[in-house]
Amino acid sequence: MLEYTVRVSTRAKRLQVRITPLCEVEVVLPHRMARHHIAPFIDNNRKWIVETHARMMAARGEGSGVNEIVPATIQLSAVGQNYTVNYQAAEKNCIINAEEPSGVPVLELSAADHEGACKVLQDWLSRQARKHLPPLLDAISCELDIPYKKASIRAQRTRWGSCSSKGVISLNRALLLLEPELVRYLLIHELCHRVHMNHSSRFWQLVSGFAPDFKAHEKRLNRASLMMPFWVYSKAVDGLVSAS
Ligand SMILES: [Zn+2]
Repeated sequence: MLEYTVRVSTRAKRLQVRITPLCEVEVVLPHRMARHHIAPFIDNNRKWIVETHARMMAARGEGSGVNEIVPATIQLSAVGQNYTVNYQAAEKNCIINAEEPSGVPVLELSAADHEGACKVLQDWLSRQARKHLPPLLDAISCELDIPYKKASIRAQRTRWGSCSSKGVISLNRALLLLEPELVRYLLIHELCHRVHMNHSSRFWQLVSGFAPDFKAHEKRLNRASLMMPFWVYSKAVDGLVSAS
């Protein structure tokens, strides 16, 4: 038996099912559609629902602090900053304060609900990433003597970074949550794509010259994407299935 809630929507055009950040199955019913369409729709999408739900529950159970929708602390390990998070329920979604008055950075935010709080935190993470990651990339670019055109901060779910043929290096804002040496490795990896736009043996040869333990780093990066705290991807994580 599959449990789900039904939300009637005036905006939805089609029947949809999503897994919320709280791992609940929610059916979105267009307000003009009759309820008897729901049961067969659930049956048709049962496999996706069960698998996605299980995957999200497993992701929440892993690591420390992942169970909290709004975390009590945020560690920007890449730049050695640990924030205590104070979340208050209020109508406005915003950061109230991100001061570091006594050496302990406190991040105060208000939001209408947990989803809103995650959005506030994600936007804050983007701003932090724009502040910290380009200078890091610059420094390593100089060190390696491999130039690039531009850095862009993204919120990709599946990649830590990428490099375009035009020399734009895209960096995932969640890199800030990784250990400094791992971020350094990712930046080296992307810069080496300025020389080889592929993963050929010559590419890895170049990488290994700058990062001899690249294989271990690659493994850690893959693992790290599964260990991200829940709030980082809370909205992007839920897929949508539509009735066709
Ligand atoms: Zn690559």
